[in-house]
Amino acid sequence: MLEGKVAIITGGTRGIGLETVRVFKENKAEVILFGSKEETVTKAIDNLKEEGIEATGYYPNLNNYSEIENTIKEIVDKFGHIDILVNNAGISAKESIENTTSEDFSKIMDLNVKAVFNMTKAVVPYMKENKGGVILNTSSMVSIYGQPAGVGYPASKFAVNGITKSLSRELASFNIRVNAVAPGITKTDMVTALPEEMIEPLIKTIPLGRIGEPRDIANAFLFLASDLASYITGNVLSVDGAARS
Ligand code: NAD
Repeated sequence: MLEGKVAIITGGTRGIGLETVRVFKENKAEVILFGSKEETVTKAIDNLKEEGIEATGYYPNLNNYSEIENTIKEIVDKFGHIDILVNNAGISAKESIENTTSEDFSKIMDLNVKAVFNMTKAVVPYMKENKGGVILNTSSMVSIYGQPAGVGYPASKFAVNGITKSLSRELASFNIRVNAVAPGITKTDMVTALPEEMIEPLIKTIPLGRIGEPRDIANAFLFLASDLASYITGNVLSVDGAARS
């Protein structure tokens, strides 16, 4: 479904991002994964190699625009174009407002919002030059319902939806589609670390009767990245088993 396409996936070293790397590679894309440091990027690439998957990796500071700009230029010099950007890197929060510092709030906004802006700003000129592209953002179920603690996290994901809807309108005439996927609770490191007695009651609230697998989310990214979604832009696609809290 992605033959001939070059895709960048941020936060591609584990969880949803890593599974998206696998799914995109299965569908014949050239994939470049981004991670936060050399060590985790190298480890992810080595592990993928053992699975028979070849990927390239970079670790620019996603809050440093000129570092990103240089990395994107290097990728374009090497691969010729960028067709798909998946903004997936993100961190969450769960503290009460009293226990959240202003610095904590900024940290979450820096990665979940500003890095999405930085990455998107850096790839758009190349996508325009190439007469099209796809930008996919990672929102969350909490961008619809909020959450009862860790206010920075839902606030950041509401912002991601705003970026998605606004840029879809700004970039549509350049054949650049912008969509987001809003996962529900998904089985990544963050969730598998939780005790069974916390997971069980959560599952009971999900009409489809299970938590999501990283592949459920990666498949949604695949669909939105592919030409099957060529008339879809400005959407936030819920992939949450109809969970409502
Ligand atoms: P994860 O913690 O397993 O992976 C996060 C990825 O982000 C890692 O690859 C990590 O290297 C990268 N990252 C973290 N800090 C970074 C930094 N400062 N600079 C660059 N990269 C950094 O998380 P996940 O569960 O796979 O989540 C991926 C995305 O999905 C996030 O945006 C998250 O908000 C969203 N999401 C996850 C769930 C869930 O239940 N797992 C639910 C809704 C939304």
